[in-house]
Amino acid sequence: MKRFVFQIEIAVFIAAALLTALASPAFAQFGGFENPQNAADLTELRRQIEDMTIPYQERLAAANKVKDITGRLPWTPMTSKEWSQRLYEQKATVKRYQSAFPKLRCSETRYFLFASDVPPQMYREIQTLLDRMYDVLCDKFNVPFVDLQQEKEDVSAVVKRNASKGKSVRKNIWQAKCVVVVFMNESDYNQFEMRFFNQKVSSGTKGLCHQMLDGTVTITCKFNKDKFNMYSSLVHETTHGFSFMRRVAYPLPLWLNEGVSDWTARTLVPQATTCPVKQKQAVAAMQKTRSLGGMFQATDHLDPWQYGAAAMTVNLLLKRNPGAFVNLIDDVKDGSDVEQTLIKYYNLDYTALANLLGRACGIPGVKP
Ligand SMILES: [Zn+2]
Repeated sequence: MKRFVFQIEIAVFIAAALLTALASPAFAQFGGFENPQNAADLTELRRQIEDMTIPYQERLAAANKVKDITGRLPWTPMTSKEWSQRLYEQKATVKRYQSAFPKLRCSETRYFLFASDVPPQMYREIQTLLDRMYDVLCDKFNVPFVDLQQEKEDVSAVVKRNASKGKSVRKNIWQAKCVVVVFMNESDYNQFEMRFFNQKVSSGTKGLCHQMLDGTVTITCKFNKDKFNMYSSLVHETTHGFSFMRRVAYPLPLWLNEGVSDWTARTLVPQATTCPVKQKQAVAAMQKTRSLGGMFQATDHLDPWQYGAAAMTVNLLLKRNPGAFVNLIDDVKDGSDVEQTLIKYYNLDYTALANLLGRACGIPGVKP
């Protein structure tokens, strides 16, 4: 199967790779799809991508043509056979991880392939946490239920939005499964990243999300003194993978991407101290500067306090109108301007949103 070489990683506190993604030709935006001929081509190409009677490589080629026109790669649905083949390849990859690091124990859930050398109780806690995270994100992102039997017959599956939970399960947004690798030991983690992702990990990195244009997502994480802070990092990184797989392969703007990941981490791991500390720093920074420091426009870097501000902004938008938040994410992923989309669904431009966030923290006059 063709594998795309382009790959981006996102580390906690290190978002430089996202700039690479945004600046990369793989994600370049093309203005030409307002052209009627392009619009007609897109309709036909999208039909081909969904037509499961067409061989996979041809559907994939159609998806790449859509990317050439729109700058965004739609995911190619797989037949059950293609899905099984992908899972087989992913399992073979995890076996190679295990050969290199024999302490890794592997398990499989509906959505995840999990490999780790953490003690048994932590191992079980992480398995449970990943499944809970998937449910919470599906709720927030309105991921539909699918009939399990139909899904087995054809992974593109008939979607049942209001199906009962007894017979149905959440649609699997991964292409096969999301691979999650967690190490207890920092040097093992660093060696793993170097060996399998050719990546020299900086000392501040707590975890990484390796996401590739063939739909393969690998989350890696390491233990660092406190298990809850590690769980929080794991949820943060896995949420990046989820956001990436949502709808099309195109990264959300930095503040929204990091805000959603930190919001999810804080919601699912309230015992962790990392996200609350960043949010306290955000309040202190807003009190001092009456500003979000250009957070909405940032493309390559957010300061730690801006992660806190971004997560609080996401929380505010979700509380104000959860349905509008799904529309916001989807429209932005499809190429709409972020501020215009905020105005459309929330009647808030960046100035109004910054002011609203400030007021929610008891600080008047906060500017973007
Ligand atoms: Zn992040």
